[in-house]
Amino acid sequence: MLYSEQAFLVAGLSRSGISASEFLISHGAKVYVYDDVDDANVRAAAEHLKEIGCINVTKEDLGERSQDCDVLVLSPGIPVDHPLPVAFKKAGKRIVGEAELGALELHCPCIAVTGTNGKTTTVSMLEWIYKAAEKKGIACGNIGRPITSCLKELGEDGVAIAEISSFQLETLYSLRPHVAVVLNVTEDHLNRHYNMENYIYLKSRLLKNSAESEYAVLNYDDPIVRNFREKTKAKVVWFSLRERVDGAYIQDENFCFYGEKLFPADALTVDGDHNRANALAAIAAAKLMGIGNSAIETALKTFRGVKHRIEKVGEVNGVTFIDDSKATNVDSAIKAVGSVKGESVILLGGKDKGYSYETLFETLKTSNVVHAVIYGENAFRILNAALKTGYTAVTLCRPFDLAVRVAFLLARKGQNVLLSPASASFDAFSGYEERGKRFCELMETFRRETQPYVKAEAAHGEDE
Ligand code: ADP
Repeated sequence: MLYSEQAFLVAGLSRSGISASEFLISHGAKVYVYDDVDDANVRAAAEHLKEIGCINVTKEDLGERSQDCDVLVLSPGIPVDHPLPVAFKKAGKRIVGEAELGALELHCPCIAVTGTNGKTTTVSMLEWIYKAAEKKGIACGNIGRPITSCLKELGEDGVAIAEISSFQLETLYSLRPHVAVVLNVTEDHLNRHYNMENYIYLKSRLLKNSAESEYAVLNYDDPIVRNFREKTKAKVVWFSLRERVDGAYIQDENFCFYGEKLFPADALTVDGDHNRANALAAIAAAKLMGIGNSAIETALKTFRGVKHRIEKVGEVNGVTFIDDSKATNVDSAIKAVGSVKGESVILLGGKDKGYSYETLFETLKTSNVVHAVIYGENAFRILNAALKTGYTAVTLCRPFDLAVRVAFLLARKGQNVLLSPASASFDAFSGYEERGKRFCELMETFRRETQPYVKAEAAHGEDE
């Protein structure tokens, strides 16, 4: 792209918008920046971007400024049917995402990972594997490090391990991964993509540029992903928890790849079948990139998981607190319920994304969950699903802080309080990280509150 000859409007000043603007300025482009949110973060970003040569655009002059711009760089947070991209499209102008700018400038091989759930975990496993192999593999993309911010470090000798979301796929056209991984496709983001067909189509777009010399690592156990073999020219390498496929699988409790035994599956440090599936996908991708078995084994035996993903954060009075705040859809909460050991009181709720929650309650009926505490903006929709499916061990309680307290009061010694909300967090938080952090803070509050009683009990014990 001839940056210096064009004017760009960067819309949405979050991490990726800032990185895209910095990238464009450093390539001599004229850059306008805009965000319709006016908070401290956006103001700080706008100030920084002004200092490096960007031009801030206000709501009032957005229309006029848009006319001066050739390309719209759209944040993944802004849907493509927002009036701004619609106006650019009508004018026949180009709309790209930050990931597209990164893809156009990548000079090294790329492993790209998409799927409804498990992207960050799989990308982090792969980065850990590269570290163990002492090779330059950099996790980037939706994981919180925009691709454009890693280009220099990646150079020609690195490997981009890119997490790609469906939001990014709306404005990503040129990425041609050497290995494209699709983990699973289950109901998510229907408030944004309208229906499953659109969502499935977007996920399949990761595979559309691949040629015969490239690989598609696909989940054999997921019927939607299995069909993706029809959508790509790449060589398909499967992974499966259930069958001995051409690719990565588990046999006699060992991770295997094309007939080769690697190491015992129970050596994986993160729990749950879903994490075994993530590990199989990471193993397949790493093997295809030529990483040696010992690095793969060392890495997966020491991988500790990622924050806010089924993370044991502490114990108060014999009750274990588990932060799975990143479980923002129904399938991820189902996976958490299936992999957490012992009985749990689950916390459900937040911002609605248009799911049906019935399957979740059908699962809860036969699970180790003893009670569900429901909170958040979608509490009544969730309660409705619980009652429809005949699940009655529910308490509706808002707001979040009170719900966590009630869950703690309901949990008996030896049980867990599991925050795996099956909902986004934006009704009350800036993101799932903030929600997880608040959960931990509340746990600490309960610890402080219960301490005097514990001390008193102990003192009592000594007296007698
Ligand atoms: P993503 O980056 O795709 O959102 P993460 O790796 O951050 O996925 O995991 C998010 C949540 O999804 C986790 O908290 C866990 O509950 C669940 N999860 C992780 N891997 C899988 C998987 N392969 N299938 C289903 N659920 C998963």
